[in-house]
Amino acid sequence: MPYNCVVLVKQVPDTKRITGQAMNDDGTVNRAALPAIFNPEDLNALEMALTIKDRFGGSVTVITMGLPAAAAVLRDALFRGADDAILITDSRCAASDTLATSYILSCAVKKIDYDIVLCGRQAIDGDTAQVGPQLAEKLGITQITYVEELTKLSKKTITLRRNVGTGWQLVRTKLPALLTVTGEANEPRVTAAKKIMRYKNARAPVEVAQKIKAENSQADETSIKELVEHKCGILREKGLLIKQWDLDFIAADLSWCGRNGSPTKVHRIQSVVLAAKESKKVEPTDDGVAGMIHELIEDKTIM
Ligand code: FAD
Repeated sequence: MPYNCVVLVKQVPDTKRITGQAMNDDGTVNRAALPAIFNPEDLNALEMALTIKDRFGGSVTVITMGLPAAAAVLRDALFRGADDAILITDSRCAASDTLATSYILSCAVKKIDYDIVLCGRQAIDGDTAQVGPQLAEKLGITQITYVEELTKLSKKTITLRRNVGTGWQLVRTKLPALLTVTGEANEPRVTAAKKIMRYKNARAPVEVAQKIKAENSQADETSIKELVEHKCGILREKGLLIKQWDLDFIAADLSWCGRNGSPTKVHRIQSVVLAAKESKKVEPTDDGVAGMIHELIEDKTIM
């Protein structure tokens, strides 16, 4: 039987490429100084959804909430095999903590006919791993976190292996369910040349508007609006218009969104710089590694 999967994906700064300009003076992340990438574990969630589609049929819809630039991760998901992409972008989402983020995402997911919702386990910037579980709560569905293998899917029952730190657990549940997927779950497929050719010009309306405004800086607002509508119409006909939803469209209660819906208060921000004090070279041989392990056990660094 076919399954409809919804995958939540987030565009994040590439925290592996931190430079001197990565932090602002006030301790917040200088997103402009870091390249934006697809959150790594969201690629694993997408891969699991695409594998389900390959084996059983159905559809894969990707959703992201973010700035207009986040449409790039949606295009990337289309290049890998997703069928549909939705950008939730609205200035009233700004300053959302995880509670507000998961509420907004839940309003969007409720508009879709789904069997399985998949999230990455954790985003590499916020790092809380809260959004998936909070989203499941708001959707009122079962959540299975730390999924590292889809073992069986049959009719309305799914069986998964989840990592519990000291081992693993086999869990079976009825659908619909939400999974948070770990980096060990699979090897994400690469983008497909044919799909890149098909979707390279896919754009969200907000991206179309930004480009038209930049190219027609002298034009008045009415002309810009007409040009944008015209271009969006062409993209829609070609199946290249990325869906764009705002808080009104998903009927979100504004008191649960943005700053209003975010009880988290940042008390203090501390920049921690880890500097190596001393280093020791270990030969890349079995004997070298065995010697290092012996030393670490001796000084009780590892037991
Ligand atoms: P995790 O919980 O670690 O993510 C788990 C999974 O949830 C991801 O792998 C992904 O599948 C899904 N997911 C998470 N976020 C999204 C998303 N946006 N779209 C789709 N799927 C998603 N961030 C801003 O960008 N702008 C702000 O103005 C802002 N203000 C903040 C104010 C406060 C007080 C706080 C505490 C945080 C703020 N943040 C802001 C950060 C924002 O709350 C988090 O980035 C967001 O809630 C996700 O949390 P996380 O990164 O820990 O994700």
